Amino acid sequence: MRRTLLACLSLAALAVAACSPRPSEADKAAPSGEGGVVNVYSARHYDADKRLYEMFTQATGIRVNTVEGAAPQLIARMQSEGQASPADVFVAADAGALWRAEQAGLLQPVSSETLNAAIPANLRDPQGRWYGFQRRARVVAYDAQKVKPEEVDTYEKLASPRFRGKLCVRASDNIYNLSLMGALIEAWGPEKARTWAQGIVANMARPPEGGDRDQIRAVGAGLCEIALTNSYYYIRMASGDDAADRAVAERVKLAFPSLDGQGVHVNISGAGVTANAPNRAGAVRLLEFLSSAEAQTLVSRENGEFPASPGVVAPAPVSAYASFQAHPMPVSAYGPRQAEAQAIMTAAGWR
Ligand code: FE
Repeated sequence: MRRTLLACLSLAALAVAACSPRPSEADKAAPSGEGGVVNVYSARHYDADKRLYEMFTQATGIRVNTVEGAAPQLIARMQSEGQASPADVFVAADAGALWRAEQAGLLQPVSSETLNAAIPANLRDPQGRWYGFQRRARVVAYDAQKVKPEEVDTYEKLASPRFRGKLCVRASDNIYNLSLMGALIEAWGPEKARTWAQGIVANMARPPEGGDRDQIRAVGAGLCEIALTNSYYYIRMASGDDAADRAVAERVKLAFPSLDGQGVHVNISGAGVTANAPNRAGAVRLLEFLSSAEAQTLVSRENGEFPASPGVVAPAPVSAYASFQAHPMPVSAYGPRQAEAQAIMTAAGWR
């Protein structure tokens, strides 16, 4: 397969397209393996990413070509492309999404002193198949007119009768919820996790709908008193250009609940080198660049996530929210609990 691909790559662009197993999308994936291009399959779509890749090209001369899609689509595409896949790097939000690619055999181990020095061990795959470059916390947005911060300072309290019919949360098959539930199973065991999920369902103000931003806005509109959300959505709304969102953030505040007194549930966005990367060396250099203080600071400032490296200071506006304690659980623990998490939430009636 690889020899066939290389033969194809030596031909004109038209011929490359003809050799692709997915011709209709081949124009988006440039030929790589010649040192000059890294093909990134990205399930993360930040404005900051474009600038990031431009900075990488300026620093290394290696061009970055991106193919964007949802994580499940990109994973399916890499599977169908097999060894002929032009993908060098897979980028995704949430350790659970990176775990799915890892489980599908689509990522390869990378051993890099730069990466290991920059990224704490609990924020990367133990085998080096993916690394987290930014952190996000799964937190509570609460109506400051109705809720006291101490009423939402643990995950248990969100499931308590205090909030019957007053909680907004998105669907259970969302990867952020699957990873949170996975972490709770890891910390508490399945029995307590099941009871918690039942309490969450009992507390729902409405059936799950929309994304995290919609839950925050629902609190702002008085539809619910509390909502589960990833931290960056709130931070971006509170500091963004949209006046209505900023007004919501006046009334809605953010609480960082603690899991067993050890800190808030944290997840990552990150990347790994693909199993069949034609340009492995370029891919590793891109990962190393993403781990740099410069890159982490840029994404943190633009996207509202927190830097992964403890040595990288969170820039404004994120800095105002960065003083939380993070639970030390390895983010690699979430993925193996995904199926169990989904089963528990579905059984509890969390659709
Ligand atoms: Fe997100």
